[in-house]
Amino acid sequence: MNLADLRIGLGFDRHRLVEGRPLRLGGVDVPHSKGLLGHSDGDALLHAAIDAVLGAAGDDDIGSLFPDRDSAWRGADSRDLARAAAERVRQRGFRVLSMDAVILAEEPRIAPHRAAMRSVLAELFGLAPDRVNVKGKSGEGVGPEGRGEILEATVVALLAREPE
Ligand code: MG
Repeated sequence: MNLADLRIGLGFDRHRLVEGRPLRLGGVDVPHSKGLLGHSDGDALLHAAIDAVLGAAGDDDIGSLFPDRDSAWRGADSRDLARAAAERVRQRGFRVLSMDAVILAEEPRIAPHRAAMRSVLAELFGLAPDRVNVKGKSGEGVGPEGRGEILEATVVALLAREPE
């Protein structure tokens, strides 16, 4: 493989944590007293992963492709958005080689759900689970993350352009 065919992408997202919403993160239903507020299911990890792969492929971003003004995406399952983004990236001739994620949230603890999130991300973006990682960081009790008001996710993805 030519090293010039490698592309790195970075995605970031944050959503408010509010009561009365189920928590869906990385496509996994996580038992918690609060969930992510959003036009879709608010899955910040999948949204950051989508932007990472789209960014690496030189494509548009999630807000342009799936606008929150569009009622088609109201309550959307972000796994469907991820599948659509993965297909766009494939159409542009790219394959996802690896993905690494950090979730910043005071609560809930991410560790018990890491394996499930890795396998969902792997399935959605078409790579082996050992090429995907997910790590949780606490907010150290400081700022909106530390007060449990928001959850943030950052994802980097490495893509390769397939030979024609
Ligand atoms: Mg989002």
